[in-house]
Amino acid sequence: MEPRCHDFSRNVERALANRNLQAAISRTTGRFLEHRNAAVRSFPGDFEAAREAASRLKLATLRDLDIHLARFIDEAERRGAAVHIARDSAEARDISVRIAREEGIGLAVKSKSMATEEIGLNEALEAAGVEVVESDLGEYIIQLAGEPPSHLIAPAVHKTREEVARLFADKLGEPYTEEIPELVAIARRRLREKFLSAGMGISGANFLIAETGSIAIVSNEANARMATTLPRVHMVVASIEKVIPLMSDLPPMLRLLTRSATGQPISSYVSVLTGVRRPGDVEGPSKLHILLVDNGRSAILKGKYREMLKCIRCGACLNICPVYQTIGGHAYGWVYPGPMGSVLSPLLLGLREASALPDASSLCGACADVCPVKIPLPDLLLELRADARAQGHRTPAEVLGMKGFAAIMGRAGILEALERIGGVFSQLLFKDGKIPWLPFRLSGWTDRRDFPAPAVRPFRKVWKSKRGVLPWNR
Ligand code: SF4
Repeated sequence: MEPRCHDFSRNVERALANRNLQAAISRTTGRFLEHRNAAVRSFPGDFEAAREAASRLKLATLRDLDIHLARFIDEAERRGAAVHIARDSAEARDISVRIAREEGIGLAVKSKSMATEEIGLNEALEAAGVEVVESDLGEYIIQLAGEPPSHLIAPAVHKTREEVARLFADKLGEPYTEEIPELVAIARRRLREKFLSAGMGISGANFLIAETGSIAIVSNEANARMATTLPRVHMVVASIEKVIPLMSDLPPMLRLLTRSATGQPISSYVSVLTGVRRPGDVEGPSKLHILLVDNGRSAILKGKYREMLKCIRCGACLNICPVYQTIGGHAYGWVYPGPMGSVLSPLLLGLREASALPDASSLCGACADVCPVKIPLPDLLLELRADARAQGHRTPAEVLGMKGFAAIMGRAGILEALERIGGVFSQLLFKDGKIPWLPFRLSGWTDRRDFPAPAVRPFRKVWKSKRGVLPWNR
């Protein structure tokens, strides 16, 4: 997928003009969030302690990532896998195409994988003459629509049932139906033919287990299991930070991942795949290729953004983010949306392409509160904003505006005077407490909502009259 993060403002305009979008998103993410909160309340044990332990485990693993990766590669190869390493997306695409050619693949079925989206795998394979069919229902829908995913775990979250019904009728020639079981049955029938005739199954990995060279895949549809066991060849595409040291590390991570993603104590399918098919096995691929993708992660690992590599792609930060809820995933302009994408995309693509994304946050902190591995997303967003400024990705007007703002906020006398003036204007002009229109670039604040007018009696004055001294002046 060609990045379009630099077009963030235009993407947002388009998203806000789509009347279906917010309803479609909040229907699904709202449910995920409710279930996640219920799962946290009924968690068997101390959820905070589990988050802390998972965060520590991921950090410790990242510290010795080279050692764990080397062990993973040894163990996977010992069990018959061929492990490939790609420094960047282009190399990952080349390796994938070479594998497909050498294995004589004409049709591949694929289960959901963000790493394959990141490297643009489908486009590369299709250009090489390989038909790639997405087998996750959400991915199948967006593949038919010719769109990228808009959520980490619910790729078609932006589509309403009616839109899917129309898509199936138009693209598949099926009779129009809005009944979800009927839509699912159509997809299942179509996909089954593909599963049975595909030469290669492609999957991602939720975790790579160094101790045994295994791949763990979490899913709520049986498609991942079918894609990884029915075709003769299985190709796994995973980014390097997915590795965890031991098999015993998997259960605590799964407990957090599934609860944070959908609120399930465990997802419907957890597959742990180790090596190729052995004599006596009734199913499984005879060839297993594991493609480990770096794509800038080694550099991230060395710097101040290392904690972002703890991410286990649960999607909880998207579900709770007011910005994501409003603009959806496509507006972020690349593979990774929401707060995690606002950090990860600039790190992977560079601030020249994605300098607007760290601003796509109110810094309310809700994302950090729900993150199962305790990634300090607001802190990382602030760091990125500072880097964007230092690297010259802010206009002189923005820099001047923020300097002025800082100067006022740092001088109590000026602030109080402005508050008094604002209060007088509020009384005269904005009696309902709302400013309906602001000029020039400030109109972004008022185009789609009213801006709160300055309080007639500012907060600082109220506080002083009740408590005496402001806490920060003590
Ligand atoms: S940043 Fe945290 S909450 Fe967001 S997807 Fe990653 S692990 Fe989940």
